[in-house]
Amino acid sequence: MDDASPVGANDARDAVNDEVSPVDASRLKRRDAGDDSIRVDDDADDADDAPSDARRARDRTSDASPSVGRGRRYEPERSIKTYFTSKKSEADDDDETLGDDEDDDDLETNKMRGSGRRGKRKWIDLKFEKDEREFTTRSIGGVSVKFPADIKPHPAQMMAMSSMIRALNNQENAMIESPTGTGKTLALLCGALAWQEEERRRTHSAATKLVLERRKYEVARQKYLTAVKAGKKDVAIETGEGWRSSDDRFLPANEGGVGTTPKIFICSRTHSQLEQMLRELKRTGYAPRFSVLSSRQRLCAIEKNDAECQELIGNDMSRRTKKTSCGHYNRHSFVSKNLEQYAENGRTWDMEDFQNIANAQEGCAFFALREIYESADVIFAPYNYLFDFNIRRAMQIDLRGAAIIIDEGHNIEDVCRTGATAEIKLDSLKDAVETLDKYAHYDTKSRQFSLLRDTLDFYRRAEAFLERALLNNMRREFTIPSGGVRDFMNDMFEGHVDPRYIMTMEPEFARLKAEFPGDVIKHITAAMNMASVFSAATEFPQAYNVVFGTNVNIDGEECFGLVVLCMQPSMAFRDVAAQARSIVLTSGTLSPMDTFELELGAPFPIKIEAPHVVPRSHIHVELSGAIGEITYKATEGDVQGRKFAENLGRYLLTYANVIPGGMLVFLPKYSLIERLLREWHVDGLFAKLSDKKYICVENRGTRGFNETLEEFKRGNDRGKGSLMLAVFRGKVSEGIDFKDDAARAVFCVGIPFPNVKDVRVKAKRDYNDAPWCKSRGMLSGGSWYRAQAYRAYNQALGRCIRHPKDYAALFLVDARFREGGPYMTENISKWIRQNIRAFDSVDQSVRHVSDFFKRLRESEKPESTRDEKENVVES
Ligand code: SF4
Repeated sequence: MDDASPVGANDARDAVNDEVSPVDASRLKRRDAGDDSIRVDDDADDADDAPSDARRARDRTSDASPSVGRGRRYEPERSIKTYFTSKKSEADDDDETLGDDEDDDDLETNKMRGSGRRGKRKWIDLKFEKDEREFTTRSIGGVSVKFPADIKPHPAQMMAMSSMIRALNNQENAMIESPTGTGKTLALLCGALAWQEEERRRTHSAATKLVLERRKYEVARQKYLTAVKAGKKDVAIETGEGWRSSDDRFLPANEGGVGTTPKIFICSRTHSQLEQMLRELKRTGYAPRFSVLSSRQRLCAIEKNDAECQELIGNDMSRRTKKTSCGHYNRHSFVSKNLEQYAENGRTWDMEDFQNIANAQEGCAFFALREIYESADVIFAPYNYLFDFNIRRAMQIDLRGAAIIIDEGHNIEDVCRTGATAEIKLDSLKDAVETLDKYAHYDTKSRQFSLLRDTLDFYRRAEAFLERALLNNMRREFTIPSGGVRDFMNDMFEGHVDPRYIMTMEPEFARLKAEFPGDVIKHITAAMNMASVFSAATEFPQAYNVVFGTNVNIDGEECFGLVVLCMQPSMAFRDVAAQARSIVLTSGTLSPMDTFELELGAPFPIKIEAPHVVPRSHIHVELSGAIGEITYKATEGDVQGRKFAENLGRYLLTYANVIPGGMLVFLPKYSLIERLLREWHVDGLFAKLSDKKYICVENRGTRGFNETLEEFKRGNDRGKGSLMLAVFRGKVSEGIDFKDDAARAVFCVGIPFPNVKDVRVKAKRDYNDAPWCKSRGMLSGGSWYRAQAYRAYNQALGRCIRHPKDYAALFLVDARFREGGPYMTENISKWIRQNIRAFDSVDQSVRHVSDFFKRLRESEKPESTRDEKENVVES
């Protein structure tokens, strides 16, 4: 096993380790400009964005460790001083290879000469064409919002903008559910940036007024003091706004009202979604100074991990003077200065522009973005960077007074809980102990080695305790509820090490980082991350459970391990909400909304469910009980399983005859898809279905996913359309847009309740049923459980109908919907719920669906070629 870091899933935090910036270089290439009917929102790695990033980091670290510099391995018998010395000389060697540095003066010279070139360096002096776009302005909530002149904002966009501006003005939180395809992102960007401009104007004019008032006071005060000094009696006292010339100090009433313009954090779930946002930003009439938060691993041009980069760029002095061993670092300011030219010229850049500049300047993309971040007005970031308190701390993200806009926020609960959770493998603890032990005793006097020994002690005690605990309880996985968490934590360190103390060492470690080898830095960072979660669990044991055992699932791998499991998303969310001015949470699928408010532990006085932009006549939503209840009992077992497969196969076949284009079929689990395929091959239904649609299957994991999508697209291009079998919460259901003929129908088969046997799901249900949670008005375990299912359900249903002229049929296939009444559908997104209908038989439904598509296909034809007889208008 190559994972050497003790924090499993939290390796994502290591991936961003200590600094702001970068964005995946591989994603910076232009997307295929061809057919974009299937749009990948999140690359295959999106759901696992950070973990995969972390994996890459781990792999590289593992390859590199314990090698030092280039090619030489660390040898314990060599003294650590020799090691440090040799490291420096190796770095000097590297400089020759990597750096062809010139200093800033040269940059200026080049700039003055225009687009000059010296040696390897190229300086691009960007030229911008005249901006001839036109915008119209609308007043929304007292703010003038510019919108592209060729787009008339529709009601959903107006609702989104006005609710957001109201929330930002009132410093409140808001939840805005607006179906995908309604132009939500453009509306959010225009609204938020207009509001920020208005705030800037307001603070600027207040500041100007204050300066003038202060001058008036100073003149009056001098006059007053001169008169008093001269012994005059009854000296006249002048007054101004909130001051008198007899006052000692200038303290006008409005001084507190003058501040700086609030920063705006615009967040989405993944980097690829942020890239799309930046492309949308180009359509707006706003050109803020902005940056993007990402990890070093995503942008490093020479593929170094955090520790290797740290070794190359060295200490503060070499960084300041731009004389590091990484030539890219030394040129990063050229990139950031180029990017600043965009805002200066009223333009914005996207990641493709950014990467082109970074490549041309041969400058470090990561540090360029970090440099702009310091003074940016708008920051784009994946939202786990804000809500994972280790990432936030490591990146020094200051949210005080900021406005936070979150798009695709339906996973916020999970992100918050994961962000406050620590997953620890026993093997990783052992590895940390072994590594730190090599270094910790070299020098018994210096402070840096004393810190190292404290960290080692922390690891040793955690390792010994976990080993003892596992020996005493050789069980696969078991849970310690909240009541036992504090004792568990105290027993782990027996009063010898306080995780809070480990955290206090962080500033010192940050200073000494450049002096430690990469594998040590990695374990120190992981120790800080663990310690912060341990401290939170000790302080708020009621918000935690502990899971440990011989087969704990960490990063998809069963291992000896420990999970300090956060049960309350509010642990991470409240902290952010307390610092920020407002949090605006948006998504196409926030329903059921009340659950968010209770779980996140912060008030959302503004809650909006925007309508879809697609006319109701373009949506067919049907509750179908045709194949009964889709439960475990009905789908497993020899007889039932076979019967279910046959019924579902025939059911889909009937509709495949009348549905044009692609069909998406979502099922609760992969094993059910595998069973269906086996049965359909045996009974011949696979061949019959294949005659009608080209069948594709979403596989487990990310491997081959793009190929599957390609196959699906090819099937659609051949004319008869494709049929994709996929799972709820999978890659197809969470991150892909299927517009137009890419998907004309979505069949959601069954209800995707989380696995009741999953120890974490069970722990959360039990937790929410505890009196402590009930007394705080939190959702019951059952309601929380149901909410998880419906959120995944709504996500899957929302895969199609992606723009105002799109149309599709949605099928909610499970007899429980029909039998359970409104209770069963109350958590379905409003725009779908409002259109629900049911039919007495499949035949009746098929006839209706056939007419539905005929009518809409006909309406797509040019008017002169329409067949009037077939132009059936739905009442
Ligand atoms: S400074 Fe050099 S090593 Fe570090 S991220 Fe930038 S390019 Fe990579």
